[in-house]
Amino acid sequence: MYCENNIKRSWVEIDLEQLKKNYLIYKENLPQNSKIVAVVKADAYGHGDVKISKTLMKLGVDYFAVSNLEEAKRLRKNNIKGEILILGYTPIEYMQEIIEYDITQTLVSEEYAELILSTKLCIKCQFAIDTGMNRIGLNANDIDYCEKIIKKYHSLLNLNGIFTHLCVADSNKKEDEEFTQLQISKFENIANRIKDLRLPYIHFSNSAGGMFYVKETSIVRLGIILYGIAPNISTTLPNGICPILSWKSVLSMIKCVDKGESIGYGRTYIADKKRWIATIPTGYADGYCRKFSNIGYVLIRGYKVPIVGQICMDQMMVDITNLVVNEKKELSIGEEVILIGRSQNEEIEVNKMANQIGTIGYEIVSGISKRVARIYKKNEG
Ligand SMILES: *Cc1c(COP(=O)(O)O)cnc(C)c1O
Repeated sequence: MYCENNIKRSWVEIDLEQLKKNYLIYKENLPQNSKIVAVVKADAYGHGDVKISKTLMKLGVDYFAVSNLEEAKRLRKNNIKGEILILGYTPIEYMQEIIEYDITQTLVSEEYAELILSTKLCIKCQFAIDTGMNRIGLNANDIDYCEKIIKKYHSLLNLNGIFTHLCVADSNKKEDEEFTQLQISKFENIANRIKDLRLPYIHFSNSAGGMFYVKETSIVRLGIILYGIAPNISTTLPNGICPILSWKSVLSMIKCVDKGESIGYGRTYIADKKRWIATIPTGYADGYCRKFSNIGYVLIRGYKVPIVGQICMDQMMVDITNLVVNEKKELSIGEEVILIGRSQNEEIEVNKMANQIGTIGYEIVSGISKRVARIYKKNEG
């Protein structure tokens, strides 16, 4: 599905060995017999869902979570076994396919469950419980209602679980910790009310929840940390968990501009002196956010090099003057550039990058577009 011709233009390298390590280290930190549901939505946060899922399947992962039917079908068509849960809404027109591909559908509300019922198909499903995120699910504040609805649809559909979602589990602010505890206790109250149904899948944790709130054997929906990225910039990950993705490109042209010359659209950068400028064939259509214009940087031979001018759709320019003049480096076409990842002692970290433009690491990696090739490395190095 990725554009293979883009190898040596703009590509990401994904280290599947490191993925395995991340999974095993995270699991090691959970209480014994805990289960991990691998969250591979949004093409495994841009890492490629099929490859990621296959690698995890070999480690014994038998439960995957995605965001929509297309993603679920792609996994099935590529021989991913086990359970696949769609975490959100699927239009009821597609319920036949939910059955055909043996997918578990989230019930986002009573109204939605009723619509599914009207299809007369016995859908495998789980109820979302809203404990404070106010996104989807039955309102956990009304325990009697939740109990009634869960029991009703348990008898009418193939309901095998309930889950909630934590919205500040990654924060260590006191009020956020209290909010998370409250979410968990609301969820547990409901889980207790429906104990007699013996539902096999009762789960509340995302990556951060699993790290900070899981105290006994549990099911964790593990997303961002699988990929070696912390849920936010101030979270420290367990030792040994590292990013599995590097984004690379090359220099396509090098030139010198005189003092006073401008670079790129809008002439937002004006050279203050004679400067060496290099062009990189990666732009915002590759998912490299235009907000990095004039503030981002890339790595060349272990040196930080600033982006100058506006990032274009397919290209960007960087100032390599220091490398050429001070470091006496001779750079030429095809020189490798690191957009995300490590180069000698320097690293461009996803969360730091995200922080620069007021977003989160999740958005940076899941935004890397399909035309950027994905290369999978089985071995380290
Ligand atoms: C995305 C998502 C997750 C995974 O969250 P991470 O922070 O990436 O671990 C878990 N549960 C639900 C419902 C999600 O939407």
